Amino acid sequence: MSTFHTHFVLPIAEPERYGGLAGRLRQIREFERLPEKQQRRTQQARLRKLLEHAYATVPHYRKQFDDADFDPSKARTDRPLPLPVLHRNDLRKAGSSLLSTAYRVSDLRKAASSGTTSTPVQFYRDIEGLRNKTALNLHLNEWADYYAGDSVMMLWGTHRDLTMRPSWLWRLYEETTMHRISAPSGVIDDEILERFRQRYEKHRPKVLYAYWTVLAAFAAYLQKHGMKHRPKVLIATAEVLGGPGRKLIESVFGLPVYDHYGSRDVGMIGAECRKHEGIHFHPWGSYVEFDPIGYTPDGPIYRLLVTDLLNYGQPFIRYDTGDCVTLADQLCSCGHWFPLVKQVLGRVADGILLPDGSMVPGIMLGGQMEQMGQTFRAIAQVQFVQKSVGHLHLRYAVKENTKFQQRELESIRGAIDLLLGCHMRWTLEQVVEIPREVSGKIRLCVSEMQSQASTFAPRLHPGPKPDNFQSPANRLRLRGVAS
Ligand SMILES: [Zn+2]
Repeated sequence: MSTFHTHFVLPIAEPERYGGLAGRLRQIREFERLPEKQQRRTQQARLRKLLEHAYATVPHYRKQFDDADFDPSKARTDRPLPLPVLHRNDLRKAGSSLLSTAYRVSDLRKAASSGTTSTPVQFYRDIEGLRNKTALNLHLNEWADYYAGDSVMMLWGTHRDLTMRPSWLWRLYEETTMHRISAPSGVIDDEILERFRQRYEKHRPKVLYAYWTVLAAFAAYLQKHGMKHRPKVLIATAEVLGGPGRKLIESVFGLPVYDHYGSRDVGMIGAECRKHEGIHFHPWGSYVEFDPIGYTPDGPIYRLLVTDLLNYGQPFIRYDTGDCVTLADQLCSCGHWFPLVKQVLGRVADGILLPDGSMVPGIMLGGQMEQMGQTFRAIAQVQFVQKSVGHLHLRYAVKENTKFQQRELESIRGAIDLLLGCHMRWTLEQVVEIPREVSGKIRLCVSEMQSQASTFAPRLHPGPKPDNFQSPANRLRLRGVAS
């Protein structure tokens, strides 16, 4: 089934994303069969190639490398790159100076960052990069036994994802040939969950692929109302779920969940293997660095910096994903040396609680902001603070004070009221910058109601670094390859 889809169906039906798919998958599999030392060498060579390309063709990086007196051909993967961090704001400010002059802009593919942490930013990818990312995504799915063409039910769907291909022909292709069934997840209430359940029992998918919080809500619903069909694979992504939610899902379905890590900006770059000891960041697709920013009782917290090895159209070098992570103390028992993240802390997306007791996941507000933010001229960042049921406090920062500001604030309130299906009481607060959490993360939704306390914030107590502390990251780095 898989070969038929990867060699024929996908490349023919969707050449833009899947052109040359079979060869790309072969390359990734060959990479995985190499001995560790060679994999490290290959990753380092791929890093140098990208950096040299960036130096030669991207004005922003040429200046940065020169300022840092950095020779890209000598970059190493066993130590941090001596370069500044690329923030999402830099993408806003740098504009076309971040694009590679090796491509015509019209040959690049435009995308927008996810709106879960601030208003979205546009960025570009070259088409080879896009196809390589898609191949890596499919390959990581295969780690979980999910192969192209397997029947899958996807529980999510920002409006954009669902309306992109609305034609009946597309739906036929999706449902009949690819066996992909999507279920939008806006407001999560019993009515929606019942609709999910009916589709699920009708289509009997092999794979359930969902946002963490949606999957947890679905599992709780099935536990209460019963289920006949059992999936063979569970994959969850986007958002962080505490231990109890994961335990609930796994006990209801009787299967371990595969946690996948990705974002619009860098694509799907990390996944759990069969051992479920943490998320591996695949060295074929990215070079990740862990920047220490604080401590928990469980160990240090790091900011996740990604150098994308696949996008040559607009290179992302030391890109701040906005996510904070903890690292595993030891290598995974599967034997891969690939960087191993124990837990992603940074995506606690509190939901908004409605008067009728239902909850709207924060990620849905992110989807809404993503759509709207593209047209904003004044508003740069927003944060929704739930003060009580029915009361939302909107914090916002502006790019500049203009006449558009009032109108844009109005449109945000209107759109969120519409999304939530009720009129909230709104209060507004202009700030210079949305404040960061103690973890370093900027959150889109914050609940100040007792029952909705963050699942991880109480565990954090950043303090001075212990004198002889050797971080897992350092230990991993010490095992790196020599140049
Ligand atoms: Zn592993």
